[in-house]
Amino acid sequence: MVVFRKGDHVWLDTQPNSEFNVPIGAVVKESDSGRILLEDDEGKEHWITARNMHMVHLMHPSSVQGVEDMIRLGDLHEAGMVHNLLIRHQEHKIYTYTGSILVAVNPYQLLPLYTVDQIRLYCNKRIGELPPHVFAIADNCYFNMKRNKRDQCCVISGESGAGKTESTKLILQFLAAVSGQHSWIEQQVLEANPILEAFGNAKTIRNDNSSRFGKYIDIHFNQSGVIEGARIEQFLLEKSRVCRQAPEERNYHIFYCMLMGMNTEQKKMLNLGTASEYTYLTMGNCTSCDSRNDAKDYAHIRSAMKILMFSDSEHWDISKLLAAILHLGNVEFQAAVYDNLDCSDVIDSPHFSIATKLLEVDSSELQNSLTNLSIIVRGESVSRPLNVAQAANGKDAFVKGIYGRIFLWIVNKINSAIFNPSSQKPKDRHQSIGLLDIFGFENFSNNSFEQLCINIANEHLQQFFVHHVFKLEQEEYLAEHITWNNIDFTDNHQALEVIALKPMNIISLIDEESRFPKGTDATMLVKINSLHGKSNVYIPPKSVHDTKFGINHFAGVVFYESKDFLEKNRDTLSANVMQVVHSSKNKYLREIFQGLDTTKRLSTLGGQFKQSLEKLMKILEQCQPYFIRCIKPNDYKKPLLFDRELCIKQLRYSGMMETIQIRKAGYPIRYSFEEFFERYRFLLPWSQRQKNDARQSCISISQAVLGKDESWQVGRTKIFLKDYHDTVLELQLQNV
Ligand code: ATP
Ligand code: MG
Repeated sequence: MVVFRKGDHVWLDTQPNSEFNVPIGAVVKESDSGRILLEDDEGKEHWITARNMHMVHLMHPSSVQGVEDMIRLGDLHEAGMVHNLLIRHQEHKIYTYTGSILVAVNPYQLLPLYTVDQIRLYCNKRIGELPPHVFAIADNCYFNMKRNKRDQCCVISGESGAGKTESTKLILQFLAAVSGQHSWIEQQVLEANPILEAFGNAKTIRNDNSSRFGKYIDIHFNQSGVIEGARIEQFLLEKSRVCRQAPEERNYHIFYCMLMGMNTEQKKMLNLGTASEYTYLTMGNCTSCDSRNDAKDYAHIRSAMKILMFSDSEHWDISKLLAAILHLGNVEFQAAVYDNLDCSDVIDSPHFSIATKLLEVDSSELQNSLTNLSIIVRGESVSRPLNVAQAANGKDAFVKGIYGRIFLWIVNKINSAIFNPSSQKPKDRHQSIGLLDIFGFENFSNNSFEQLCINIANEHLQQFFVHHVFKLEQEEYLAEHITWNNIDFTDNHQALEVIALKPMNIISLIDEESRFPKGTDATMLVKINSLHGKSNVYIPPKSVHDTKFGINHFAGVVFYESKDFLEKNRDTLSANVMQVVHSSKNKYLREIFQGLDTTKRLSTLGGQFKQSLEKLMKILEQCQPYFIRCIKPNDYKKPLLFDRELCIKQLRYSGMMETIQIRKAGYPIRYSFEEFFERYRFLLPWSQRQKNDARQSCISISQAVLGKDESWQVGRTKIFLKDYHDTVLELQLQNV
């Protein structure tokens, strides 16, 4: 029997039956007559008697101190990984590598890690030279873009509140600093963020600044590595938030900022009061947010808009529509009966007349369009009255339509300022670094169509990760005939096929049903059931009355409420409402709705989303990718609180465990013999450089610089290296 001594670090296996059966780190505090007292990582004490001593195992020294790169962990298991992150987190070391993949644990406090000095420090260093940092990843991206003349991308993933958006901003900040021109374009690229966040972020229960849209920022550099433009692609803004917020959540920041930040005169012109007066701002019973200063933010948004070339009149046009949205939110309907039909009337209120003035539409026309629905029957337009609930729904749809289009217009406007067409010339193709900050996996108590889209996006990204980190890598080892023991990994490819790729996949069935005039949520379910009922990816509703179906995602099973799926996917406005928009005297309102012909079959929301995702995946596949895995350490936005179970869950479904194994065993850096010789020939004495035998020269260089061990391998056409070899070689090169 192993005898533990006071001060020994050990693993304690306490919960053999729980799903999160991961031993916890502990230290021996006392040891007396066959029993020991342990204090675990969470501060809990346990007396372990001789009978239970099998639950205690000695910790590897690497786990006691913690390591900067998890592939160096002696205890290569989940417990080792989570313990390593935990002890580093306690010392404010929030960044940890797994090879070149960065794990970032949200510190929930401002650490002195992001100063100008820190940027300078990390500039032009190789990974591993300094403690792990998001700046090191940014620097490596930049360096590799220039060295390999290849586009780079950073895929930043994690749950809501894990720190994706903050990481994105830090990388941008770093890249602007190394671009180093203090130019107008650098400033514009940085200042796009406050505008996007004002209109696309909101306080949720998980995050005071939650992004409710996905974005891909592609930064373009010229030959000398100077930023010369950028382009932003947005994905699927959560429009429902404009009309409805869950308890303790807010609408988009811009509304509160506007009400707090506008001067009295402007507010008077828009007839605006305080946030508490508007239905659309008070559904969550929360109008202020402790960590934010809406008035100050408004000033910042205004100045950012100036930098991005929004004119004063454009800003005013937007403000008018935002005000109209708030007033429309306070418009109510009352029941009426005409000709024995359930009808509705707009309840007369100042809000309604202000809204019509701001929208510059005819008040009776607007009234009519909100309370009636025209349908085309045998070529003729027939009007049917709407009941109170239907009218209220129609109003919300109109408002969501307006807000969604303001958002798209703003993204276009920003792009027209920062996009430099000359940076896209195919001839002297310049390089780019793309940053992907997209909504994390979602599983709420009630999930709808939006969650399905978001989770599909995450399936795609996970597949990209798996493909890049596991599949391509192992295929190449095989093709190159290097010694290799295959590593098993969880592949979500099959799930993705059933959900979104193969013919008759789930999302295409939803789409098909949406285009079918008689299609309903129920007929859609019947179709999915009949085609996928037996698949292990799809979980059919429990009974004919049940409207919830489940999907077995890589990150767990999610149940979706199918009610309203088709309506959400169709995402159309009624012909009456569109008529009102087209006849409006408000030029801006007409402009944002331009190009939307109601008679044409519009592509569905799901269809558009799928298309933009596929486009994104194609772009990512052309790039050399970096991965940043953000981890949320607790649900309370608290510093220094590390909830092990929560972290294990996140590490597990993002495949980090398998990632460590492959990164430890694998060779993420590889060069063709020619490329390698070209770059590192200076590391060999002149006499030994044999241009005519690239393979042998590569071996000589590697033996000289990296040693003769088996940590690197030579394949048929390429040399295979570990991440740290790259660092060693580059450092040597600097010293030549
Ligand atoms: P969502 O999916 O909801 O948009 P997210 O992953 O983008 O979430 P962030 O908005 O980046 O999350 O981070 C949430 C909050 O956590 C930030 O507002 C900030 O308070 C804190 N935070 C994140 N990263 C850091 C960091 N590196 N340093 C200090 N605080 C941080
Ligand atoms: Mg975010």
